[in-house]
Amino acid sequence: MAAARARGGGPAGGDPAVPAAACAPARPEPRASRSALDRLARDIAACRACPRLVAWREEVARVKRRAYREERYWGRPVPGFGDAAAAVALVGLAPGAHGANRTGRMFTGDGTGDFLYAALHRAGLATQPTAVSRADGLRLLGVFLTNACRCVPPENRPAPEELARCAPFLDREVAALPRLRVLVALGAVAWDAALAHLARAGHALPRPRPRFGHGAELRLAGAPALLGTYHPSRQNTNTGRLTPAMLDAVLARAAALAR
Ligand code: SF4
Repeated sequence: MAAARARGGGPAGGDPAVPAAACAPARPEPRASRSALDRLARDIAACRACPRLVAWREEVARVKRRAYREERYWGRPVPGFGDAAAAVALVGLAPGAHGANRTGRMFTGDGTGDFLYAALHRAGLATQPTAVSRADGLRLLGVFLTNACRCVPPENRPAPEELARCAPFLDREVAALPRLRVLVALGAVAWDAALAHLARAGHALPRPRPRFGHGAELRLAGAPALLGTYHPSRQNTNTGRLTPAMLDAVLARAAALAR
């Protein structure tokens, strides 16, 4: 991920937790972009546009999982997380019920995040391999994480109209990332959300529409490249459908396209 690392900048002090290759000279975040992302994060966290999802995220936060019963759950929509100078954005499905819906940060605090952040760290895109809370000190380097749906849905299945309601947030995130070159879709729902975003942004999609697959790739003139990978859910990683090497290869391809 050399290109993405260079775009995102590395820590100035040689953090021993960061792979050596990630310690490139720091590239500051664009200030306007950080401001836009901060505004957007506030708008997302306040959204109550989907009654079914508002009820569910708050119910999950009220009932809690036994292991986290002493914690105060986030229980709101989860804003994107990462570097405002990102060249690569990863688009997932939705917050985990007891992961991001608990911690308030994308892919933080569950098995999906454990797998994903370890891969990002191996690639030099994250300052540490683990993500447990919003206060754990983790920073992303040249990469941004978001979801097609910002609220945890029952059975991990957002309805089409809920995805459509949430889609403008993805448009605003992409617009706030001026150095973005590559979108990586984690799973089929994210792939479709990314395609829909490209269409809304005025890019003509091939017909028939490119289908999702692990390693699928779409390159349109003037648009961020789109890559597909199986979602790093426990269901996929525990069964070997997605291995660390497979995700590493997709991130390496994203880096090559981001150069
Ligand atoms: S899914 Fe998106 S649009 Fe719907 S309530 Fe959550 S943040 Fe708002």
